[in-house]
Amino acid sequence: MHDEIKPRRSPAGYVVLVLLAGLMLLGWRFGVAGKAAQAEDAPPAPVAAPVSDASAADSPAASAAVVDVPVPIDVALAPAAVPNTFVGRKPEHELQVYRVERGDTPNGIADKFGIQATTLLGGNPQLSQESSLLQTGVDLVILPVDGVLHDVQPGDTLESIAERYGIPVETIIGYAPNNLEFPYRLYPETRILVPGAIREVFVWTPPSLESVRGGSTGSGITPLVVGTGTFIYPVGSRNFTQYFWYGHPGIDIALGEGTAVVASDTGTVTFAGWNIYGYGNLIVINHGNGYETFYAHLNGINVVPGQVVYQGNVIGSTGNTGNSSGPHIHFEVRINGAQDNPCWYVGGC
Ligand SMILES: [Zn+2]
Repeated sequence: MHDEIKPRRSPAGYVVLVLLAGLMLLGWRFGVAGKAAQAEDAPPAPVAAPVSDASAADSPAASAAVVDVPVPIDVALAPAAVPNTFVGRKPEHELQVYRVERGDTPNGIADKFGIQATTLLGGNPQLSQESSLLQTGVDLVILPVDGVLHDVQPGDTLESIAERYGIPVETIIGYAPNNLEFPYRLYPETRILVPGAIREVFVWTPPSLESVRGGSTGSGITPLVVGTGTFIYPVGSRNFTQYFWYGHPGIDIALGEGTAVVASDTGTVTFAGWNIYGYGNLIVINHGNGYETFYAHLNGINVVPGQVVYQGNVIGSTGNTGNSSGPHIHFEVRINGAQDNPCWYVGGC
């Protein structure tokens, strides 16, 4: 059929050549090469026990001498199980990332994913500091269930994590993606999801009214100033950039730097200066009736601790100091030390 193929190179010839080559190789291995080469149809050379190549190739006598050596079976070579070595699996969390869009609110974002707003803090610890991080374009880690994603630290144990968040150990183990198997080893630089936990938010406490009132008079009789119980906006702008929620205990109002800030109600200044916990230049007024108001990120401060101010008095000017990503005022209302929604006090937001 094919002219190029030479008659002497038939497929059958190839087969014979290959067979011969194979038999010669076998014969060499077993030291019977000469016998195997005599005839193509010769039965396979007698099976010898496997021995080392060196002795077989050199002398048949040597190979015969090692035939009786017990041949180890494969199973005997398998590594024995070492019961004291435990290699556990590491946590495998399926996290989503959400980029904050204009007009988003913590509750709105949480609703989109079927989680609580507090869980936004659970996946994003940076949100628990006073700042405007929940702004357009910021990427948030979204946890699949409500809880806190805990960064495992050296020395952490399941018990210590359970105690910290007030969640039973069994609940943490029971969350399958944590991949916790007996003996429940924790690995640094991994993260354990603590279902149902809520990340704590650091709350800075200003000086007490008593501590500043005591030094404000020379007579020892401390004048008591009590607020009207009503509150006004500290600035004229209503350009709200962040509202009150668990992760942000006040309201942010954007406006140009240097705008006058007024006392929301009558009271005594208990703090006026730089605050290292993110507020920047901060004024706190204690209203003598359980209420305190905070004015943060200021440029200018016109009052001193112990000073009495009246509702509407100018106390400072707006700025962009501390954890601030743009000129705005952060305004807080606290009642008996607890942060409350300022919108409820100033007539709505
Ligand atoms: Zn703020």
